[in-house]
Amino acid sequence: MDLKQLATLVRPNIAALSPYSTARDEYQGSIGVFLDANESPYPNGFNRYPDPHQKQLKEKLSAIKQMPVENIFVGNGSDEAIDLVFRVFCEPGRDNIVAITPSYGMYSVCAAINNVALKEVVLGPEFSLPKEEILAACDAHTKAIFLCSPNNPSGNAFAYEDLMDIVRRSSAVVVVDEAYVDFSEVPSLRFQVNEHPNLIVYQTLSKAWGLAGLRLGLAFAHPTVIALMSQVKYPYNISELTQRTVCQALEHSIDGQVAEIIQERARVAQALETMPCVRKIYPSQANFLLVEVSDADALYEHLLKDEVIVRNRNKVTSCAGCLRLTIGLKEENEKMLASIQSFK
Ligand code: PMP
Repeated sequence: MDLKQLATLVRPNIAALSPYSTARDEYQGSIGVFLDANESPYPNGFNRYPDPHQKQLKEKLSAIKQMPVENIFVGNGSDEAIDLVFRVFCEPGRDNIVAITPSYGMYSVCAAINNVALKEVVLGPEFSLPKEEILAACDAHTKAIFLCSPNNPSGNAFAYEDLMDIVRRSSAVVVVDEAYVDFSEVPSLRFQVNEHPNLIVYQTLSKAWGLAGLRLGLAFAHPTVIALMSQVKYPYNISELTQRTVCQALEHSIDGQVAEIIQERARVAQALETMPCVRKIYPSQANFLLVEVSDADALYEHLLKDEVIVRNRNKVTSCAGCLRLTIGLKEENEKMLASIQSFK
């Protein structure tokens, strides 16, 4: 898709928007007497507004992700970036989105909140990507396709070429949520965003980076799309505390922790294979395992009694009988395995 075609997908009110201009947009120096933003003058570490453009943070992320700053959006979790796609592209009551199911629940919740119709396409056998069905589900009012790879809750990643084929053939925006990509062997699609302005790739610091409590989600996209998202976001969407703490956290490598989780994922899967109540362990490229068991509701309650909390996915499309088990520390996984082993 070229930029001209992309422009036709943007809501007319957003294309015509004059975004809020902060005091820090008008004067960008760091030295001086700041009497422009109605802040308190008494220093306590937080009396000044944070950088609305998150310049320092984006520069650090740019180096780590090997992506230019102008291709990066940072949000209050990926959840903010998900919502922004609706607010930028989807006309409430008129447009629709296409999303795979089962997948992350926020795509459908954001669609409902924004009064945007949702067309769900059920994943194929073994949670495979029904590429042709996804493209066939799109109509003239489809503004975005939501895909998630590795997918939550199934754990599998889709083939790079299949995802790119959808991006190339789609007349809508294609969102690929890569929240779990750090645990996966498949390459990220983010390096394709300049060539394909309709591609938006999400990542998050909530999983492999261990910063779920700070709320920092990333979107990689063409600079035109990043500019649209930045115009619509709350001016100071990332707090000073988050910007500062994330900048420090990014100094330390997560490679060791990620390797440990991947190793534990294999060990837990192997241990589960021998357990009588386990019917099937789905292959995972994420930090969790989707496991089909003999009686999901009963095992869920049994685990709860042992103070092990997992996610019951029994009622989710194509996940009947399944629990989703997050991989924790070795001793936590041991406790979970012991509890599952003792389930009769
Ligand atoms: N995408 C997927 C696929 C997820 O599973 C989750 C959280 N479980 C998120 C996004 C949310 O990420 P964040 O914490 O960055 O909002």
